[in-house]
Amino acid sequence: MQIKLLIMDAREKKQLLLDSRYLRMTQIWAENSYCRRRQVGALLVKDKMIISDGYNGTPAGFENVCEEDGVDRSKPYVLHAEANAITKVARSNNSSEGATLYVTTSPCMECSKLIIQAGIKRVVFGEYYRMHDGVDLLCRAGIEVIHLWKRGDEYQVVAITNDNSESHYREVEKYMASC
Ligand SMILES: [Zn+2]
Repeated sequence: MQIKLLIMDAREKKQLLLDSRYLRMTQIWAENSYCRRRQVGALLVKDKMIISDGYNGTPAGFENVCEEDGVDRSKPYVLHAEANAITKVARSNNSSEGATLYVTTSPCMECSKLIIQAGIKRVVFGEYYRMHDGVDLLCRAGIEVIHLWKRGDEYQVVAITNDNSESHYREVEKYMASC
């Protein structure tokens, strides 16, 4: 995984503006989740259209409780926001091929597998959540992964985690390395 600080030209700034607006929408969408531990929202965007959405929760028809009784742990059948967005598009006439996934927190390993298989080409997220292995997997699959950080009222691109892709953003300074 490569994480870099970026300097942008006009086109890249416009893309950042779009990315940050969609990301803000995922944060609002996360409010739909009835999970108490963490609310996560996701949007799938293709050709500037939102083709699917999701937030973390139990499958349709199950009670709206994410946590095990008396334990600070999610039930094993809780679906993550990304999985809900991807499976929702599977039931529609749309295709996630080539889409961008916006999600409030970085995808876990399980969701990253789904993201790769769904043909998603870009992932934009707002904050890192615990393990980095999911993001590492996306990076290995050649998916462009962008970490947008909120500083005050402004979003800033702080990371791009795919070294090989034709990126929207020019990579200038190595911020953190590994992978
Ligand atoms: Zn997940």
